[in-house]
Formats: sequence, structure tokens, C-alpha cells
Amino acid sequence: MSADLINVHSYCAGSWLPSQSASSENARIIKSAVTGQMIAVAGGTGFDAASMLNHARTIGGPALRATTFHDRARALKALATHLNDNKELLYDLSYMAGSTRADSWIDIDGGIMTLFAYASRGRREMPDSTVFLDGDVEQLSRHGTFIGQHICTPKLGVGVHINAFNFPVWGMLEKLAATLLAGMPAIVKPATDTCYITEACFRLMIDSKTFPAGAFQLIAGSTGDLLDLLTAQDVVSFTGSAQTALMLRSNPHILSHCIPFISEQDSLNGSVLGPDAVPGTPEFDLFVKEVIGEMTTKAGQKCTAIRRLMVPQASISDCIEALNSKLSEIKVGDPRLESTQMGPLVSEIQRGDVLKINWRLGHQAEMVTPANAVIVESADRDLGAFVAPTLFHCADPDAATSVHELEAFGPTATIMPYRDLDQACQLLNRGGGSLVASVFTHDPQIASQMVTGSAAWHGRLYINDRVSAKESTGHGSPLPHMTHGGPGRAGGGEELGGIRSVMHYMQRTAIQGSPNMIAAVGRTWVPNADTIPGDAHPFTRTFTELQLGETLQTKARQITLEDIEHFAQFTGDTFYAHMDDDAAKANPFFPGRVAHGYLLLSFAAGLFVEPDPGPVLANTGLTDLAFQKPVSPGDSIRVELTVKRKTKRNDDYGEVRWHVALFNQDDEAVATYTLHTMNAY
Ligand code: NAP
Repeated sequence: MSADLINVHSYCAGSWLPSQSASSENARIIKSAVTGQMIAVAGGTGFDAASMLNHARTIGGPALRATTFHDRARALKALATHLNDNKELLYDLSYMAGSTRADSWIDIDGGIMTLFAYASRGRREMPDSTVFLDGDVEQLSRHGTFIGQHICTPKLGVGVHINAFNFPVWGMLEKLAATLLAGMPAIVKPATDTCYITEACFRLMIDSKTFPAGAFQLIAGSTGDLLDLLTAQDVVSFTGSAQTALMLRSNPHILSHCIPFISEQDSLNGSVLGPDAVPGTPEFDLFVKEVIGEMTTKAGQKCTAIRRLMVPQASISDCIEALNSKLSEIKVGDPRLESTQMGPLVSEIQRGDVLKINWRLGHQAEMVTPANAVIVESADRDLGAFVAPTLFHCADPDAATSVHELEAFGPTATIMPYRDLDQACQLLNRGGGSLVASVFTHDPQIASQMVTGSAAWHGRLYINDRVSAKESTGHGSPLPHMTHGGPGRAGGGEELGGIRSVMHYMQRTAIQGSPNMIAAVGRTWVPNADTIPGDAHPFTRTFTELQLGETLQTKARQITLEDIEHFAQFTGDTFYAHMDDDAAKANPFFPGRVAHGYLLLSFAAGLFVEPDPGPVLANTGLTDLAFQKPVSPGDSIRVELTVKRKTKRNDDYGEVRWHVALFNQDDEAVATYTLHTMNAY
């Protein structure tokens, strides 16, 4: 055994536990993907699953839930910054798993960027409190004394994250971002093949001291009886093969306790070359480029990689020729070399699996990659887990089965012809549910037809053409902003997609009660809740001084015909409803000439603003505007301005949302909206 063998530790209830020695039957030896040498040992760390769960539930969970969404978003940002400053050591380790620098960028920088993205969205889209409001208040009663509001609060258990080997850093961070932002602690179980990289990242996370004790723990090796100790307040989030997912999600304990199980599985992702994208068009070239990238990035070990290519019958030989010409130039070798474009697979076992599946694909499709496709540069072909990029041609995709069912988790793809778009959709959907499908076309009608015919089978549809090519993010790249997951074979799960994924770790509850109850629960004033008449004008009060429900009642102002005409000439808005009595009367909405809605907003501002410099720094917007009743010349309006919600932005100022309601002389509602201002502390 080498003295430098990495002993991968578990991190349980605040302590690091080493794996057993390489000779133990409970530990697994991990070998370099490049040289085949032993590099690490993992497993048999002797953790106690019950203590880990207890630590998370009684220490980590309460500490996280004592903070607000914004506190946690700030902690995510600090964590991302710390990892970013120390990421080089992760790159060093990743070479041993066969990743080139470009491959590792997706994993390491991609993971860190996901943390940054959630840090930012958490502060922009979630409140600085512990309760997330899901949608608007629901009116449940005639007089408004009994209303409803959906809220989301963090589940009281643990997020158990079981990850695949191919993204040891991103896989951990993308799940943690949503879980921690929700306010739930997590136990991370990386795939053993690359767990030494995850462990190194995890050590940086602990060193960063950005999250409280118990917020995250790590298991190297088997999970033991962990899954059998979960409750309905826990969430399992799994990424890996369909086979393992089926085994884990059908665990009787998980089923009988209705424990949420999110699954991201393998899928037979397809890409369609549009009928318009004939050889010589930019879309044909883009398709070839994308396929080559998808086959060779991470040596094809990406759950989103293109496995099946659907090409118009007339273009099939040109396409095979173009792909083969590029594939034959791919330099496969030591991932540390800058010239290397594709490294080895992660392990000898993985290589065996891919070659076995290639052999099975060969029964229904013809291998068309030239035999000389592999050029192993500065690496030992026999010791490393190298395979050649392999392209198959399936001439009869309707009759074939294996090309639509078998995932070779490596640089393998199958090209197949289609007659028309209906058949292209059918073939795309034969994967039985995928994470992503792509269409290369410059014709919006073709794109629309493909979306209608196939979207229900795919989690993401990527349409690329000469317009989007330069800025497009790639078929195989899950983004924090867009959902990642897919139906059927892909597992039926949904991760990422902004704040949507945070909701997996929160319980949605419908709250019903009086407006005062709902306002207190959501820390947001709602109509019909008590108001507080302010002693001073609210614009003279600082962010800290303002209270929810504090209200200004303005005096009334009459609207004259001269006002309307002046406003029309001044702004150029001479729409007939304001200028022509007969034409306005002919309109079903107006009794005759009426005031402009924008005139009402301007007069409202004139009624409620305090002119002198003060704590209000800026008006940053207006949302939810509704005009309820027209205002005729001779009517008057008054305004009620109420502090609805306060959100701290930084140490100098915070955002105040005001409920603004305009009433006429008969106390009928004329208009309502939410005004956003930035107010000094
Ligand atoms: P895998 O063999 O299914 O393993 C996935 C995870 O499950 C690993 O952490 C594994 O740990 C763990 N596991 C296996 N048996 C377990 C058990 N009895 N109890 C608890 N955990 C258990 O998949 P993989 O080989 O790591 O990854 C490759 C597959 O993942 C491919 O099929 C790929 O398509 C899929 N994938 C999907 C996505 C996605 O987002 N949809 C992303 C990446 C990969 P050990 O390693 O210790 O066995």
C-alpha cells in the first residue's frame, strides 16, 4: 500500500472518522483513472447513522432555522467565495479521476457558480424572514375577515443527498445550495469512485466556518442503515443510475413513511438535426460541433450527454462523415496535458461497462467510427481506463430497441435517420423520458412542431441556431436558473430552476384566519389587517422606525376636465376615452370622458410624497397595478399608503413595499398597487 494513499474520512456529528485500511473488506480501493495506481481508500468509517441524524435534527436544523433566508443566502455567498479562493487543489485531485481541466471546470467552477447563483436569488426572490409566502392572499369570505395564504417553511428533518461519481463537486453543491437556503441540514453521500474529491471540497467547506455546526455531514462509503431511520420530515435526493434509484426508492421504509424521494437518473438524451439544417448551413455545423462536445466532454460521462442523434435520411451519410472526421482528430490521453481533449473513464469497471454496452448496441447498429480514433498521448493505454469515442449507425430505428434503452455512460452515440418530423418526435420520445433534448434548426415552425410533439417527454428542450449559437450555454449544461430533471426514465425529479428547487426542502401549508393572523404569520401587512396611524409622515421615518401597517391617509383632490386635457396635451396621451365624450360612452367600460390612469398615479404621488430630503432614497418601482373604477371629471380621489413589507438590503438601506389604495368620494376603490422604495436606516 502506498504511503500517500488518501484515507477518505466521513464527517459525523462534528468529528472526522477515517476509513478502514486498504486490506479491510469494508473499505474500497480507488484507483487512478489514468495510471491504474491505488490512490485512495474509502469505507468502513464506522459512523453511527442515528447519531448523524440526531446531530442534524437537534443541532444543525434548529441553528439554520433560527436564521432568515437572507442570512443563509449570505452564508452561501461566503462559502462560494471560500471555495473559489481554494479551488486549485480540487483541480489537482480531479485529474486522477480522468478529468481534463475543461471537464473539471464544469464540476468545480460550475458548482461554485451554482452557489453564487442561489446566494443571489435567495436575496432577490425570498424574504428576509423565516416564512416564504407562496402566492397572494386568497379571499375566502365576503367581508374579508377570513382569508387564506399559502406559506412554505423548512422541513424539520435532514436532506440526504446521494450523488453520482461524475460530478463530485457540482453534484454536492447544487443540492446543498437549495437545501441550506431552505433552512435544512444535509448529509452528503458521494459516489465512492470520486469521493476523495468530494471529501477535499467538504474539508474546505468545514474550514470556511460559513454555516453552523450540524448544517452538513459527509459519509464516505456505504450509507449503512441511514435510509431506514428517516422520517417524513426528511428528503432523499438521489442522482445516479435508474437501477440504483429503483432499488432505493422502493425501500419499504421509504414507501411506507411517504419519505420524499427526488430522483435524477440516467437518460437516453437525443438531438435532432432539423430538415432545414442541410450540409452547408450553420445549423448543420453547429449540430456536429455540439455532438462532438457532448460525446467527448468528461469522456461522455454526463447524464445530459447526447446519446441518440436523429438526422434527416438525406443528410445521414454527410453527417456521419462530418462527425467521423472530427472524432478522428480527438486527442485522448493524460488529462493533465493541455493537448488532451478527452481523458479516460473514471475506472476500469466503468470502462468494462461501456464496452459491454457498446457490444450490445452493435447487435442493432453498425459501428462507424474509424478504428484509429484513439490516440493515447503520454498515457498507458492498458493501465488507464481509456476508450475510443464510438459512433454507431442504426439504419432502422423504428425496429431497434437497445439504442433507445441502453445507456453507455461514456463517449458513445448512435445516429439514426428520420423521414419526417412526426417520426423525429417519436424517436426522441422512445427514450422513455429524458433530462434534455435538442433541436438544431433555423425555422421557428420546425422548432414549434418539435416542442409540441416532444416537450412532455423531456425536462429541458434546447433549440440552437445561428442566432443563439454564440451565447448558447450548451445541450448538456444544467443551469441554476432552469430546471434540471426529466420524466420517466430520467427519474421524474426536478432540481435547480431557481427557487423552485428550494421548495423540495420546505413544506407548503395553507394558512387560514383573520387578516391580522395572516399578516403576523407572513410578516407582511394584508388588506383589512389593523393599520397604525403614524404620528409623523412615513417618508420622514427611517427604515428601522417604520412599522408594518403604519398608514398615511391623505386629503382628497378633485379631478377636473382641465386636469385631464392638460395631462393629455402635456404627455401626448390623447386616447379617445379621455378626449371624446361620445366615443368614450360607446365603449362598454366608460360612462363618458375619464381621467387617465397615469394621471391618477401622478396625483396620488402628489398627495402622499413628502418633498424634503429624508430617509426615502429612491422609488424603485411599482407592481400589481390594477385600475378598478374609472374616475370622471368632478370626482375626487384620496390615498391610503400603508407599510406592507420591509426587507433589509445592506447596512445602509432597505426596501419598503407600500400598499397604495386610491378611493373616490364615495369610498369606492379606484386603483391599488404596490410601491417599492429604498429607505435609509
Ligand atoms: P450509481 O451506481 O447508481 O450510484 C449512484 C449513487 O448511489 C452512488 O453514490 C452510490 O454509492 C449510491 N448507492 C449505490 N447503492 C446504494 C445503496 N444500496 N444505498 C445507498 N447508496 C447507494 O451511479 P453512478 O455510477 O455513480 O453514476 C452514473 C449514473 O448516474 C449514470 O447512469 C448517469 O446517467 C447517472 N447520472 C444522472 C445525473 C442526473 O442528474 N440525472 C447526473 C449524473 C449522473 P457507491 O458509489 O458507494 O456505490
